Amino acid sequence: MKRTLGIILTSSMMMALMAGCSVEMQDTEPSESEEVIVELEPARAQDDYYRYVNQEFFDTAEFQYGHQSVDRGFDIDLINDEVEQVINEVAAGNGYVPGSEEDIIKHAYDYYMAYDFENEEIPADLMAMIEAVDGVTTVDELLAVDAQLVRDYGMNGMLQAAPDINPFNPQEKVVRFYQLSTVMNTGFTDIRDQVYALDNIKSDAAVIMNTRGYDQDTCDEYGTELAFLALDLYEATDLDAAEDGLNYSYYHVYTADEINEIFSNIDLASYLTDIGLTSPSTYTYCSNDPSQMQALNAILVDENIDALKTWELGLLYSQYMRYIAPHYTQLASYTGRDYSTPEEQAITEISTMFKAETDYLYVQEFYSPETDAALRGMCDDIKEGYRALINGATWLSEDTRAELLIKLDNIEYVTAMDLERHETEKYADIYGANYYELTLNYQRVNSRDIAASINEPVSRTEPQMYMQDFNACYQPSYNNVTITAAITNAPYFDINADYYTNLGGLGMVIAHEIGHAFDSNCILFDSTGTYDPSWISQDDMDTLVARNEQAVTYFEENFTVFGVYHVDGEQTLGENYADLGAMECITSLTHNDEERVLLFENFATIWGEMSTDSAIIDQVAYDCHSPAVIRVNAVLSTVDAFYETYDVQEGDGMYIAPENRISRWY
Ligand SMILES: [Zn+2]
Repeated sequence: MKRTLGIILTSSMMMALMAGCSVEMQDTEPSESEEVIVELEPARAQDDYYRYVNQEFFDTAEFQYGHQSVDRGFDIDLINDEVEQVINEVAAGNGYVPGSEEDIIKHAYDYYMAYDFENEEIPADLMAMIEAVDGVTTVDELLAVDAQLVRDYGMNGMLQAAPDINPFNPQEKVVRFYQLSTVMNTGFTDIRDQVYALDNIKSDAAVIMNTRGYDQDTCDEYGTELAFLALDLYEATDLDAAEDGLNYSYYHVYTADEINEIFSNIDLASYLTDIGLTSPSTYTYCSNDPSQMQALNAILVDENIDALKTWELGLLYSQYMRYIAPHYTQLASYTGRDYSTPEEQAITEISTMFKAETDYLYVQEFYSPETDAALRGMCDDIKEGYRALINGATWLSEDTRAELLIKLDNIEYVTAMDLERHETEKYADIYGANYYELTLNYQRVNSRDIAASINEPVSRTEPQMYMQDFNACYQPSYNNVTITAAITNAPYFDINADYYTNLGGLGMVIAHEIGHAFDSNCILFDSTGTYDPSWISQDDMDTLVARNEQAVTYFEENFTVFGVYHVDGEQTLGENYADLGAMECITSLTHNDEERVLLFENFATIWGEMSTDSAIIDQVAYDCHSPAVIRVNAVLSTVDAFYETYDVQEGDGMYIAPENRISRWY
């Protein structure tokens, strides 16, 4: 449940071109509404660099069935194939150490293949939990069962309480109440945006209660009551806090006494003890939505017990649907049909359910010390690049610059080499008799680990992402950058490629993530990772805000997709700044045009992507990243090194008048 600033690589890709360059369509025979796509002239680097580099890709790329985008830089099939290879190799072997990653995968594979989800009875202990939830008559009883579901059944629980770091004191662990975002799988944003959202809650709730043998009137009544509770929670929910997850101004910390006062209707200490957080009176607590916590407390009263137990059953059914649904015709539509082979299904299952286990083996097989050394060397170079930029930023006061340099020095890189094997003994007895028991026992070990982590010191070198995910992230409280193994694939990084090509690929990504340390959100964390906006003097803050405003204007006014849609400069500011700072950093490490051409070309290559119109429009509306064409062209159009390398002149598509250009550091 950690928040990270990952680069986006999975959705919302681009076919859009900048204003004046869009694909022309004309109706030749209006009666048949046929469209002819006119071939575009090849783009000049000086007019549309993104298309100049990616035209051939656009001409040949094809959407896979059901996909909204196709990427040039990011090949999900490659990673999936590699993970599949790991699982198949392990499944075919034997003689593993009990409790090891290999042994868990081997058992999971064999058990999964043998489990008959259609015909196997609902596991007796699961049925007992369903009956226990259905049988509660008070909130105290409900929370006792809820705690058991958290501890033993891998659920998050109604209160969503779990250890996290205190953003105001990153050395300290806190119990965080994660903001609730759904009731019965209907999101609070759905309640805001859709007329039928409350009806969906009601009807889903009614279906579930129907499987418990209640008559239709009772089911409807419980469903209606739950919909009203959901509405209460929705009205108290701070959706701005939900949608602006990186804005730590929403966060509050509480003492044990203060949090007990907020949850006045329940025995919070017993609940927390039950889920394994054994010293509630000694912890600090944290939430980014105090008003929602109060509303949650208000609905946790015995008179709501029917609606509350309906909600709990919904959570339980949702988590274990595939064991439950085959036994109730009412639930037929809640499980999809899977037409892939059993072997393929086993691979998909293990690569999601046991991802933490495949991760270490994936690294062993597909990541080398040579790659790590080259990667870390590049990280050090990028740090030096930033050091020079920050030193040169004389528009900041001496004190602020000095603190930013310390913050830069303190940044840790976390790579695949930091991933360690898990403690084998902990998992040695988890196998049980079948797939259900294995997954249950596995989750139990993990829930106990999560609870126990409240007492462990904060580790700044623990990977924040799975190494088989194609991504990288900056975490402001840890002040670290995680770089996965998967993203060290070409074209991002290739041990055999030249330095500047790699610098324009993965180097750009790393510089982007380091750039987040200084973006408009994360700059509010000081050099120790403490969220404290007051560390920056008012004068420097005014200067930063003025530059922020220029950046917002630059991106909003100069760039569109389809010639119509402008990016939201505020929404994308942090990401745009990370990109711009990164480009200024990596170009500062080059010495001549040849090196810069390699760098720019790979930068435009890694973002090469084609996607459906609707995906692009969605991205402009909701994503904190600008669409790829803007990520590339808008950044290059304001970097001097690009103008020099390609001799961009007034009248060229990439040209922006000097007085309208912006800079992150200069
Ligand atoms: Zn980012």
